[in-house]
Amino acid sequence: MAGEERFTEKEAGHTSHILDSLEKKVLDGAGISREEAIQLSRLGDATLYRLFAAAGNIRDVRAGKCIDLCSIINAKSGGCSEDCKFCAQSSHYHAKVEIYGLLSIEEVLERAHQMESLGVKRFSIVISGRGIGKKDLERVLEIYRCLNRETNLKLCASLGIIDRQVADKLKAVGVSMYHHNLETAESYFPHICTTHSYVERVETIRAAQEAGLEVCSGGIISMGETMDQRLELAFTLRELGIKSVPVNILNPIKGTGLEGREILPPLEILKTIAIFRFILPGAMLRFAGGRENALRQLQALGYIAGINASLIGGYLTTPGADIGQELQMIRDVGLE
Ligand code: SF4
Repeated sequence: MAGEERFTEKEAGHTSHILDSLEKKVLDGAGISREEAIQLSRLGDATLYRLFAAAGNIRDVRAGKCIDLCSIINAKSGGCSEDCKFCAQSSHYHAKVEIYGLLSIEEVLERAHQMESLGVKRFSIVISGRGIGKKDLERVLEIYRCLNRETNLKLCASLGIIDRQVADKLKAVGVSMYHHNLETAESYFPHICTTHSYVERVETIRAAQEAGLEVCSGGIISMGETMDQRLELAFTLRELGIKSVPVNILNPIKGTGLEGREILPPLEILKTIAIFRFILPGAMLRFAGGRENALRQLQALGYIAGINASLIGGYLTTPGADIGQELQMIRDVGLE
């Protein structure tokens, strides 16, 4: 028994040493390696809350305590040709989802004004589909010109796979950030989508960056990938220089290709978020879809474990958290 206790103490000392030294390394401005991230992911449950606290401290020092709030509008819904298994808008599956063509300027503007009045700073038009056709693009550009004139919102766009010419046009009408998730690790992507490749997604990100747009790109966790694959995604995002990283958690919507998939336990999700903060210390690590369902009462711990941005006001095909409650939660954990 005494021997077991000594072993436990020794183990605890070793664990604490790893955590302290990696926290210091990141606070000093260095990046952690893939092996070091794997070491963090192997730390036992006894260290979890210390890991969350360390990630929160890294966020405070490297990214600040201010939470970036953004909102989206699903401006064209459903009927997508692609077979992304998680998505309710794919025409390959049978999820019940609204199907409609591009919304009018008035409809988008109304939503933008509503979000701005609630304190949201960024607003994105999102459309379903592999990419955007010529006619829809002209209309979307017109909507952005209007948003630029009539609001003070920072404008983001999420229009699927685009090339440099489209990225240039978006930049010219005042869009500052392009959203395009990598969705998951390259090694897991073929299990999630077969109608387009990971390379096409990376090329879209590069085209947006070359046009001078910032890029928002993250993924969805709990789609059956391993922890190592989640870390693989985070390192790819770091290599691409991504500054805004949405962390979605799978919502296994009925009728999608991932219907019925079991969601990871909340503490495993929070551990992933904390390690993402170690890997991407200065990024806007953004709470996005699925968290209400997956984290339930533990959502505030996400903010403690390194989150510093949030998508509020509803997601593409599911409602989001109450905005007032979200702002209260942010204040309650001491963030701004
Ligand atoms: S994620 Fe985008 S590309 Fe994939 S099925 Fe959904 S709308 Fe289509």
